[in-house]
Amino acid sequence: MRDLVGAPESMDFGSGKVVLVAGGAGFLGSALCPRLLDAGNTVLCVDNLLTGDLANVASLFGHARFRFIRHDIIAPLRLSGRVDEIYNMACPASPPRYQADPIHTFRTCVEGSLNLLNLATEKGARILLSSTSEVYGDPEVPVQSEDYRGNVSTVGPRACYDEGKRAAETLFWEFGEHRGTQTRIARIFNTYGPRMHPDDGRVVSNFIVQALRGEALTIYGDGSQTRSFCYVDDMVEGLVRLMESDEKMPVNLGNPGEFTMLELAEKVLARIADARPLCYRPLPKDDPRQRCPDISRAKRLLGWEPTVPLERGLDLTIPWFSGRVAAEQRQEALVS
Ligand code: UDP
Repeated sequence: MRDLVGAPESMDFGSGKVVLVAGGAGFLGSALCPRLLDAGNTVLCVDNLLTGDLANVASLFGHARFRFIRHDIIAPLRLSGRVDEIYNMACPASPPRYQADPIHTFRTCVEGSLNLLNLATEKGARILLSSTSEVYGDPEVPVQSEDYRGNVSTVGPRACYDEGKRAAETLFWEFGEHRGTQTRIARIFNTYGPRMHPDDGRVVSNFIVQALRGEALTIYGDGSQTRSFCYVDDMVEGLVRLMESDEKMPVNLGNPGEFTMLELAEKVLARIADARPLCYRPLPKDDPRQRCPDISRAKRLLGWEPTVPLERGLDLTIPWFSGRVAAEQRQEALVS
């Protein structure tokens, strides 16, 4: 086991907590870190940089209460000093990315969670799991509440992620029951916003980047499958509120506004000039037909619901991708 240095004694904790964010350089984790710093906490950002990107947290490196630790959570984590809260946000979440190394994905979900749960138990820290709507698989009910047990396959391309997260939920539950660990479980539905990797492979980033590059938008299947898209700032708020709550049962976090992929494509095309027509590709195996969260538990327990509709979220997200695509095009022009 490698000994890692935690928050150095010289760090000024102020009145805040010491919060470890595993996956802190990823899309969601890197949105969480500044929010936690702004609240006066010390942030230990842990990431293996597999799909996370140091550029996502570059602006935090000068911050007196921020520390980056490169580490893969499938190896045990031994930290010196105090840790008050742990957010386990570490795992590739895009199907092409989590399917690239399915065994590593499964180990990240299960062994990574186990390692962080052991750390939380040792430190007396509260720990939150970023679980997923994928625990419902290809749902047979139009709206998924936390009581729905899902329609999931133990085999196939999505199983490493879906079953990995299901097993992680079980580990969290058992640590809460038998080790007295303070656990929280967030079931995160499709989330989007700035800092998604342009080549992440998920639908919102794909459509925006394709439109900006003047490529046709790729519709998988006939585009009638649905997803419910939550803007990243809403998600971060939900995660922080869940961590602060007393709820140890899983809580859905997502935006209940449900759209087909064709509707999403129309909204993206309406916002980006010079976009090209659609092109159709085969539907990936086991692609869920629909997904829509019932968020009544989050509303009741956390007083939380999303505030950013898809249209506004796209308006907030597109400029960030424009910057990335423009930089890419400048670089291509230099080398050609
Ligand atoms: N999708 C699509 N075109 C793309 C990427 C994805 O039509 O370029 C579809 C995909 O088949 C799925 C939906 O968009 O039905 C959401 O896919 P994503 O990978 O974003 O997330 P997930 O399937 O995990 O919800």
